[in-house]
Amino acid sequence: MRTTLLFFSMMLAIMSHGQNDQDRLMIKNFFDDALTGKQSYLWLEDLCEIGPRLSGSKTSLDAIHWVKSVMDTCGFDTAYLQPVLVPHWERGAREKATLTDRNGNSYELSLLAIGGSVGTPEGGLRGQVIEVQSIDDLDHLKAEEVKGKIVFYNPPFDQRNISPGSSYGANVIVRSRGAIAAAKKGAIASLIRSVGSSYDDAPHTGTGNYLEGLDSIPAAALGVQSAEKLHDILALDPTATIDLSMHCQWFDDAPSYNVIAEVRGAEFPDEIIVMGGHLDSWDISDGAHDDGAGCMHSLGALKLIVNQGVKPKRTIRAVMFINEENGTRGGIAYADSALAKNEKHIAAIESDAGGFSPRGFGMTASDDKRSKVESFLSLFPRNTISYISRGGGGVDIGPLHRADGTPMLGLIVDGQKMFDLHHSPNDVFETVHFRELELGTATMAGMIYLLDQYGL
Ligand SMILES: [Zn+2]
Repeated sequence: MRTTLLFFSMMLAIMSHGQNDQDRLMIKNFFDDALTGKQSYLWLEDLCEIGPRLSGSKTSLDAIHWVKSVMDTCGFDTAYLQPVLVPHWERGAREKATLTDRNGNSYELSLLAIGGSVGTPEGGLRGQVIEVQSIDDLDHLKAEEVKGKIVFYNPPFDQRNISPGSSYGANVIVRSRGAIAAAKKGAIASLIRSVGSSYDDAPHTGTGNYLEGLDSIPAAALGVQSAEKLHDILALDPTATIDLSMHCQWFDDAPSYNVIAEVRGAEFPDEIIVMGGHLDSWDISDGAHDDGAGCMHSLGALKLIVNQGVKPKRTIRAVMFINEENGTRGGIAYADSALAKNEKHIAAIESDAGGFSPRGFGMTASDDKRSKVESFLSLFPRNTISYISRGGGGVDIGPLHRADGTPMLGLIVDGQKMFDLHHSPNDVFETVHFRELELGTATMAGMIYLLDQYGL
């Protein structure tokens, strides 16, 4: 009895060892193909040439049709558009802010309207400025100290976090909620120091919010150097004023689409594994890292799998979601459709952290499932991914996860440079390194391949 058991467990070990070698070889092939073929990188270049892809814009539709036409050449089973109605906001003519001190010296500040902001009244507005570090600081001021002024939130980016995303997360509330807090005190506009990690003058936009029943006041982000200039001038002259003009406008919701590529499973076609990024970007850059990279990671990963002649057991989708930046309508539409069709997703993976070197995945699922995915790590080449951390996923796959509990994973990359570029005019194709991008694509392919082979 004992001998038989020992024999079987030895056989199992040998077989799984052989299986591991095969998996390791397949994953190595993905990396070789990605690094020599550079397909994701070449696609990303084409995507970036189309222009910025803010939801509702003509260029976003151009990008949607371009990506669908690329999918049609890839040998997938199908590629299709999933209709989504998206919010439509436009910046209009570039915003302008002129700071003037009591001696009549004036300085042009570099700024971008925060996404969704209202414009200034015809002819612009002028006001004195009150500087605070946080919404909490503002809340402690008396309304008469703020009324009729421009609130200026100037919290510095905390450089001490090894993961700059934590510092971004700590400060981004002034972008998302600053105009609400300022309007509550009677301010006429809200300015923030850009939530970015670099020391330059490129402003970083991003989405902001208003509260129904409260005045919507213009909201904009200053470049870090402009924020410091404003701080220095205010220290010398608290009566300095800013002339602000912004021309943003809201329009009716616009027709748009998620773009979906699919390879059907041979054994369990009803079990779906979905991966994706968001095709929309802010309107002031290529959105190369955010999130052209994640889109091309996903599309490229599916292509790598097909290139190896893999016939997946389960159905694999690559989804380019629309409207992550200012509405999440694409992610919601995908989840609604999955629910309506009673689809069963076994995993959802998002790449939305930039086209930098992959480091690991964050995963929101039970500990059992996370342990299973952890056991895959040894199959990846050294210096690629080395951990599966607890928590994480993505904004676009969040609605699916919340609707039916689909386990979700988010690709984690080396994030040191992301918040230098994120939502700023500097997020352009030239800042993407082809090896770093392709390592991410191959990592996504490897993870999808293993989830397909072994389920979850
Ligand atoms: Zn993004």
